[in-house]
Amino acid sequence: TSVVDWAKSDAYHNSFLIRKDEVLDAAVQNGIDHGIPVEIAVSSAQGKFLNLLVKSLGVKRILEVGTLGGYSSIWMGRALPYDGELITLELNETHAKVARENLAKAGLDGRCKVILGPAYDSMIKLHPELPFDLIFIDADKKSNVKYYEEAKRLVKRGGVIIVDNMVEYGNVSDLEKESPSEWSVGVRELLAVLKEDEEVEATTIATVGERGFDGFLYAVRK
Ligand code: SAM
Repeated sequence: TSVVDWAKSDAYHNSFLIRKDEVLDAAVQNGIDHGIPVEIAVSSAQGKFLNLLVKSLGVKRILEVGTLGGYSSIWMGRALPYDGELITLELNETHAKVARENLAKAGLDGRCKVILGPAYDSMIKLHPELPFDLIFIDADKKSNVKYYEEAKRLVKRGGVIIVDNMVEYGNVSDLEKESPSEWSVGVRELLAVLKEDEEVEATTIATVGERGFDGFLYAVRK
């Protein structure tokens, strides 16, 4: 079997489809300067996909679970209308600080708010006047089910829940593996919940690119 360089493949496509972006480049550099693991953010192609979804669905209110340095927040936040809002939840103080700086430098601090603390605790305290149009779950994978249950409460009917890292290089479906990672277990538990859930329709879109083999779950609340 031939070995494909998937980072090169992404770079090739991006060279046609994604413009150089000084704001995002500076956000990544700020993360590196603070020693945060910027490589676990969504790729630029995935970030742009989230941005296009926000625009094409006319999303006004977004909840993000797992901020890191605000890379995906910037991609989504800049697609919002001026009266839109993004709330993003982060446990790590340094990540939240870097994200706040990056969102401010991107001119998005008016529309995008970082809440510091364990995401689940923050979620259960949210009782927004209007439900969210889009919820992006991308934090500790072992808590996927808890986040998903709260996301269902918080998303509007017809709204979208996206969960990142559903494939984990194929480990999620590798049932032969002796000790599955917490990540795999978290994804498997979520899939089991979705199977019985009649209020949501969902599909996993597997992806390959600079972040290796992975995938987004795209779920619509009925
Ligand atoms: N969405 C970001 C992006 O694409 O730019 C990447 C998020 S990163 C994969 C996951 C983040 O979740 C990390 O910053 C981590 O500190 C945070 N996290 C882990 N456990 C958490 C928890 N219990 N509550 C809130 N955030 C958590």
